[in-house]
Amino acid sequence: MRKLFSFLLACLLLFPMLPAVAESAPVISVVATIYPQYDFVRAVAGDTGTVALTMLLKPGAEMHTYEPTPQDMIAIRNADLFIYVGGESDAWVTDILASMPDSDVKALSLTGMVTTLTEEHVEGMDVSAEPQASPSATETDLDEHVWTSPVNAIVMVNAICSEMSAINPDAADAYRANADAYTAKLQALDDAFRAVVASGKRTELIFGDRFPMRYFAHEYGLSYYAAFPGCSAQTEPSAQTVAFLIDKVRQDQVPLILYPELSTHTIADAISDETGVPTHIFYACHNLTADDFAQGKTYVDFMTDNLETLKLALN
Ligand SMILES: [Zn+2]
Repeated sequence: MRKLFSFLLACLLLFPMLPAVAESAPVISVVATIYPQYDFVRAVAGDTGTVALTMLLKPGAEMHTYEPTPQDMIAIRNADLFIYVGGESDAWVTDILASMPDSDVKALSLTGMVTTLTEEHVEGMDVSAEPQASPSATETDLDEHVWTSPVNAIVMVNAICSEMSAINPDAADAYRANADAYTAKLQALDDAFRAVVASGKRTELIFGDRFPMRYFAHEYGLSYYAAFPGCSAQTEPSAQTVAFLIDKVRQDQVPLILYPELSTHTIADAISDETGVPTHIFYACHNLTADDFAQGKTYVDFMTDNLETLKLALN
């Protein structure tokens, strides 16, 4: 008995700083449609070992053409928590959730957590393939890239933390500590973006591609020109659009032509060839490459990269 007591005492002395996860905390199953919410759940879960996390969109795959497989549907049905975007790209979610009334899954949408903005058509964009504005078109006009603002990301991490804690109260303290650590990094990024914009020579971005950064631009007071709106399925812009962007780069002496991840960057390259201005990736964090996924790259990592790119693009 005394030996056992000494052993327990030694354990307490050796491991006094272990995170406060009750041994009874069960493992909860969380399914994320795409990368941003996958990253946020991973951050809140930390090393608690209490979350089995699945991302439905495969690394490297295109978000806008994703369709769920039967296995994906089973994963959603059996999950404790399912987090989707809630825009045009995952309009399929409504039908799928309605088809599983016997499932206990709690569904959360990113667009439901923050104030949404409508997709903009700015001067020069090729919008020939866009649905024409009509009184009933408001639903499809929603810009779904809500996570591209770090301020929104903070709201999302906190909302996700609350929901995970409600499902798994035994791990709530650890989730809160992890969420606080991650939102502190996001807050530092937000401060740094504001400082870069405040000290920049210009407030204009040029995207030789779709423009998925509407919330980011709105948050930091940036203007932009791009080939297409946020989620356009178009890949071939009109000659007028390309000519407009080339003129803009020249007139405004824009130092960098940007394109989002998983872009073929053919349009950005064409503008670059014509103007001699270099191109650079700017991460919208829709998805990441299989390599970056394997390396465990985070939303904070990509946004930190964007911070450096923004310094070049605005000066
Ligand atoms: Zn998109």
